[in-house]
Amino acid sequence: MLLRLPRTSTILLLATVFLSCTLILLVTGTYIRLHGERLTDSWTVTQTTSAEVAKDDLRNDGSIKLENATLVMLVRNSEVTYARSSIRSVEDRFNRHYHYPWLFLNDKPFSSSFIRLTQNLVSGNATYARIPRTHWSIPAWVDRPKARAKMRDMANRNILYGGSSSYRHMCRFFSGFLAKQPEIQKYEYYWRVEPNTQLYCDVDYDPFKKLRLENKVYGFVISMKEIADTIETLWPTVQNFTREHPDYVHANNSLDFIVDDDLGVQAGTYNLCHYWTNFEIAKLEIWNSIQYRDYFNYLDQTGKFFYERWGDAPVHSIAASLFLDRDQIHWFYDIGYFHNPFTHCPEPASVYHDTGKCYCDPRNNFDRNPSSCSEQYQRMRDKASGK
Ligand code: GDP
Ligand code: MN
Repeated sequence: MLLRLPRTSTILLLATVFLSCTLILLVTGTYIRLHGERLTDSWTVTQTTSAEVAKDDLRNDGSIKLENATLVMLVRNSEVTYARSSIRSVEDRFNRHYHYPWLFLNDKPFSSSFIRLTQNLVSGNATYARIPRTHWSIPAWVDRPKARAKMRDMANRNILYGGSSSYRHMCRFFSGFLAKQPEIQKYEYYWRVEPNTQLYCDVDYDPFKKLRLENKVYGFVISMKEIADTIETLWPTVQNFTREHPDYVHANNSLDFIVDDDLGVQAGTYNLCHYWTNFEIAKLEIWNSIQYRDYFNYLDQTGKFFYERWGDAPVHSIAASLFLDRDQIHWFYDIGYFHNPFTHCPEPASVYHDTGKCYCDPRNNFDRNPSSCSEQYQRMRDKASGK
């Protein structure tokens, strides 16, 4: 084809292809460089680990003094291989030095093979617990035929997990019942670990200790936008709730993370930003507070964990943004993390990669993705510090 064209046309065609490719490379390069610089300049600053956090306190026998904390995983028996890969990763990167206990939760009894295949991977004690039925069932006030019809409709519209009732139980469980599990109540802090996730960096200090020493109560690694179709009326419901309880909204809140238009809770628009809750390191106390309990009950009474598909991520994140002091929220920027399909990969390379601490590819860092809410988070922090 090309050979039959007159010579000038061929040259023109080749030149156009060459120029287009160069242009695409330039644009992509600039995009990555700009975003990379922004991240490098301003978003790694907060990631200093104080000497007090970095240094483990030791007991007389030389073992590390632990916080009152547990690793926790909700998981199905069928996900045992995925569970094992996450356990291996958390143990290798962190827990082999600390030996924090693991708590495995399931709505069904754990199988003997799940227990056998996981208990020898953990370096701390493992507890296997079944979630009480009332924490994993449709409440009496929910209209079941209506819920079924709504689910069918969402499935037909191809909304992610739109047709899944187990997914809804899971979201409602994490929203309202994790802190109510008897086996977790003896702890102050938890780290939520999901099956099939990876840590890309050494966690060479105790994140629970960091939270305690720095008076933080909620830690995340990735933030992003929620699928609007799953939470059609969540924000108006939250607005109604805060109208009834204006005193629950913290004076030093992080509303700026979830509302872009600066119009406050009542007039503002939810921007869909949330912390991706498949990774959380947090203090259980926040979910046991009066504010949060009232909030969850209010949301739950609407039945919309079932009629819609409210996720625990927006439910937790909106609460954290409204009821907590923003200084109590911590971005564990230095923890590289993968949960399909997204990666948090800390930058710059000189700090995190050249040293051998992490092995991910910074070009895959989700902070660079337009669906990331790192910009909103940073804007909120900058605004708070008067920048
Ligand atoms: P995604 O991350 O939003 O795609 O949702 P996942 O399927 O990973 O579910 C989130 C977490 O809940 C994972 O830890 C799952 O293992 C767990 N999970 C989801 N559904 C169920 C369920 O029906 N039973 C149990 N025991 N765990 C579940
Ligand atoms: Mn998951």
